[in-house]
Order: sequence, then structure tokens, then C-alpha cells
Amino acid sequence: MPSPLPPDATVFFDGQFCKATDARFALEERGVLFADGVYEVVRYDAGRPFAMQPHVDRLANSLKGIDLRGVDAQQFATLSDELMDRNGLNDAKVYWQVTRGDAGPRDFLIPQPPEAETSPNLVLIAYPATPVDRAGDPISGAGHVVEDCRWTKCWIKSLMLLPASLAKTAAKQHGALEAIFERQKPGLEESHITEGGSTNVFIVRDGELHTHPNDGWVLPGITRDVLLDAAQQDLGLTVREQTFTRAEMLAADEVFVCSTTQLNPLTSIDGTPIGDGQSHPLTTKLHHAYLDRIFRG
Ligand code: PMP
Repeated sequence: MPSPLPPDATVFFDGQFCKATDARFALEERGVLFADGVYEVVRYDAGRPFAMQPHVDRLANSLKGIDLRGVDAQQFATLSDELMDRNGLNDAKVYWQVTRGDAGPRDFLIPQPPEAETSPNLVLIAYPATPVDRAGDPISGAGHVVEDCRWTKCWIKSLMLLPASLAKTAAKQHGALEAIFERQKPGLEESHITEGGSTNVFIVRDGELHTHPNDGWVLPGITRDVLLDAAQQDLGLTVREQTFTRAEMLAADEVFVCSTTQLNPLTSIDGTPIGDGQSHPLTTKLHHAYLDRIFRG
């Protein structure tokens, strides 16, 4: 997990690098009033970013998804590297954010044309991270299922994170490591597990890997993509991007959640042990395959 920002940390804010303590949002910035913005988190290990281009591409898609124009997502790659240098960091999670900017008196309507009367604010923050223990096992924990009450455009990495925040807080209050979203989609009789509060969810069944398809109801996780590829290419596993129910998840041999910042086996969900409630051999293998990809360059 990222550690807190050092007091003298440099961030990128409002078009320039500055001290984190000097960065202040305008009162009527649409990001503050309407959560009108999108974000990304990129990991750096031993001085190198992982999957930089997929993050840039996903940011570009998210910007398009909320019709926020006039921001070139590609510049985040260079700004991010420079931020790491300026902070003298090798291992970090770098947070990128674009908000639509200050549009004057609070108004639901986005100025038209959308690029007309706002100046988007780009923010980058580098959170120092502990170097990864490559030989170590993944940290396991419990899961807690909650209703997926988010909007339908979950493919957009939106700043509108209150549902996820409430879900993850409820999970923590239940002694769980992560919230697992379950949603009954329109026109379907049964509910499906979509993803985690800030992770994608995988189950292992009979040696095969299953995860929800990238059909808009989940964030197209970059770790998800890397793991699907590593599972097939490096471990020779069969992967299936298809939905599963809560009952199927609880009956799985292994369940894990993953994101740029973590890959965690879930040994129980709401009190039901997963598999034998302890071991997760395939998840551990995947965890190491993921770390190998991070460090092999
Ligand atoms: N789903 C959600 C809802 C998330 O917030 C995240 C992480 N931000 C993920 C999945 C995982 O995405 P990634 O592997 O790109 O970090």
C-alpha cells in the first residue's frame, strides 16, 4: 500500500510542478462539485513504470467517455516520469487525475462546446511504495459481498467513487479486505459478481480461470489483462471471460482480487471458506507470474 506523502513532496498541479502543500482546488472546480473527472494509478518498481501505455490509453478512453476534450493523455507518461525524478523515487504508485476545471457559478450543465469555458486541471501525485518482495507470498484476506449500485458505465475510471468508498468501508467493518460487487443487470433473472470495490475478481474452478467479461459493467483492469495473458502464455491455463454468480464464486477452488496495487487471494467470503479456506496454489503462481512480468522489462 502507498505510504503517506512526505511533507516536502512535489506534485503536478494546475500546469506546473509545485509543493503538495501549495496545491489548492478552486471552490467551483467541477471536479470538486460534480466529481467531474477521471483518474489512473500507475505503479513504478525499481524506477520503471509498469504498463504505461495501457494506462495512457485507458485514460484517453475515460476522457472520451465523459466528453472531456482538449487533454492529450499521452503527456501523462512524461509528466509521471518527471514527477518520479523530482521526488527521487524508485518505487511508487503515481496517481493521475483530470478534472474539467472551474466553470464559474455551480451549474449542472457542462459548458458547450465542452472545451469552451473550462480549463481542465491535471494532477499527478507520487505515493512512495515499499519495494516489492519478489519471493513473498500474496497477502490473503476475506471478502464481503455488497450490492453493485454504481452507474452503468463502469468502464470509465470516474472520480465518482462514493459507492466504492462506502462498499469498501462496509467490507472493512465486516473484517474483510475487499468489497465484492454483485449486480442484477436489466433483463436478467440472476445476479452476477461484477468486480471488487477497487479490483477485478477472478475465480479458479477445475484449474480454469474465470473473470467477468469486459462489457462495460466492470473496469477494464490492466492487471486483469496482464494476468489473463500470463495465465495463458506463462502457465498454460484456460481462461474464460464469463460471468459467474455468488454461489459459483463461493463454490470455487480459489478466488482472488487484483489491481495495480495488489493481488489478494480471498480465503473466505462472508464467513464461507473458499476451497480449504487456506491454500491458493494457482493464485500464488499467478502472483509470481505477475511479478515476473513487472521485473522482466
Ligand atoms: N475495478 C475497479 C472498480 C477499480 O477501481 C480498479 C483499480 N482502480 C480495478 C478494477 C483494477 O484496475 P487496474 O488493474 O488497472 O488497477
